[in-house]
Amino acid sequence: MQAKFDIDTGNFDLNHKIFKVISEVADEQGVEVYVIGGWVRDQILGRPSDDIDFVVVGSGIDIAKKVARRLGRIKVFVFRNFGTAMFKYENMQIEFVGARKESYRRDSRKPIVENGTLQDDLNRRDFTINAMAISLNKATFGKLIDPFNGLEDLKNKIIRTPLNPDITFSDDPLRMLRAIRFATVLDFEIHQQAYQAIIKNRERIKIVSQERITEELNKIMMASRPSKGWKLLYDTGLLEIIFPELHKLAGVDYKQGVSHKDIFLHSIKVLDNVAQKSNNLWLRWAALLHDIGKPYTKRFDGKTWTFHGHEVVGAKMIPDIFRRLKLPLNENMRYVQKLVNLHHRPMQLVGDQVTDSGFRRLIVDAGEHLEDLLILVESDVTTKYDEIRQKIMNNFKYVRQKLKEIEEKDKLRNWKPPIDGHLIMKTFGLKPSRVVGEIKDAVKDAILDGLIPNDFNAAFDYMLKIAEEKYNLKPVIAKPEQGKAENQEDFRDNGLKSN
Ligand code: ATP
Ligand code: MG
Repeated sequence: MQAKFDIDTGNFDLNHKIFKVISEVADEQGVEVYVIGGWVRDQILGRPSDDIDFVVVGSGIDIAKKVARRLGRIKVFVFRNFGTAMFKYENMQIEFVGARKESYRRDSRKPIVENGTLQDDLNRRDFTINAMAISLNKATFGKLIDPFNGLEDLKNKIIRTPLNPDITFSDDPLRMLRAIRFATVLDFEIHQQAYQAIIKNRERIKIVSQERITEELNKIMMASRPSKGWKLLYDTGLLEIIFPELHKLAGVDYKQGVSHKDIFLHSIKVLDNVAQKSNNLWLRWAALLHDIGKPYTKRFDGKTWTFHGHEVVGAKMIPDIFRRLKLPLNENMRYVQKLVNLHHRPMQLVGDQVTDSGFRRLIVDAGEHLEDLLILVESDVTTKYDEIRQKIMNNFKYVRQKLKEIEEKDKLRNWKPPIDGHLIMKTFGLKPSRVVGEIKDAVKDAILDGLIPNDFNAAFDYMLKIAEEKYNLKPVIAKPEQGKAENQEDFRDNGLKSN
């Protein structure tokens, strides 16, 4: 929903029924009611929003119930502990709360709360742009109330706290991250004093729960230029506390006058590149983390800096990072892990010596995420030298084209080797283990390399052979009967050099 704001009169044109009904109820009950916070800000910015918060100088719960009844029989969710009440109306998420006055203790971001006036309620808000209200009582219906000049700050794109930022951030350190998040998402600048106060209070972030921190990080990730937020986190010293692995990527090493690029700055640039092409939050996380293993594999070989195996080390770090950040430990994590692990593979397919089997393997290993992987790899090119960039992009185009050709020719989409881990365990009486994975990979590779035909019998025989030769294993069951599956392209004819 969107409402018009007339900057000359300072009035909102609120013609939606819900505002009229609330206005009536407020006057009947003799209480002041205001629209407040994020929705007011977003209307002035012209950002449509269906999350509307109302403040009542009195009981928010009472007014919510009366309004809901008048709008129809709408179910109201009441949270007595917080003095709030919520309901849905059309597409809107409506929340009522009583005006509050807050005071803080040192060890917690949970305030002591008392009833207060509208001014008390605006005082406790985090930023001037979030501390504006619209009056709904009849006499002043639609009037903007803006005691801290939030409108001016919106115009000048400034994040500023209503009161002393040092106290604001110390009271509730989550606000430091909110400042950076709003600066990133809205592309605003943080006011100098507020910025200094973040630096000063950065250690206080430790009293904030990981869930709340990560919620803000995810919002930063979804901005159109997320690098701004990560750079602010770095510059204010927050990054070192909340994300040491990422902080470790920053900086440049010199040996014999040779340096490498700053991997932190590179990573957030790759993230911006991906953000231009995709809204997939997890692809964005993969971009940020694709080089996370580099500090642990960094060597100077006498001529240049190398990072051999950083993608494997990086992929191994992902579960711990996700666990600590309280990001989900599900297929999203495995997706990020996979992209980190594979991000060097496409460019390794450039050159005369590469056979079709290299392409086939990548297609099979990346599976349904091949296109996302290619977006990541293309975004990974951040060199500022046009000539080098052009050369890499041409190589990349070749790889993309070739992958497409081979995928179509060999019908590799959704291809699975005819032998899976279960059958290997059953055949040799094994428990899940490394050996099972190795045998499985050996069979898969033999087929993709065109060493054996792509069918069950050949794969089964090859499995027996490898198991015996390499692991001294003998089958404990006979070969099961298996008909020829569909889509069994034979790769043997075209396993040779492709160019
Ligand atoms: P968005 O919903 O886009 O995240 P928002 O500004 O609406 O932005 P909410 O978390 O929904 O953010 O909070 C609603 C309002 O409550 C804010 O606009 C702000 O006035 C106030 N607020 C939220 N969190 C804090 C906080 N930690 N400290 C002070 N005020 C806050
Ligand atoms: Mg909101």
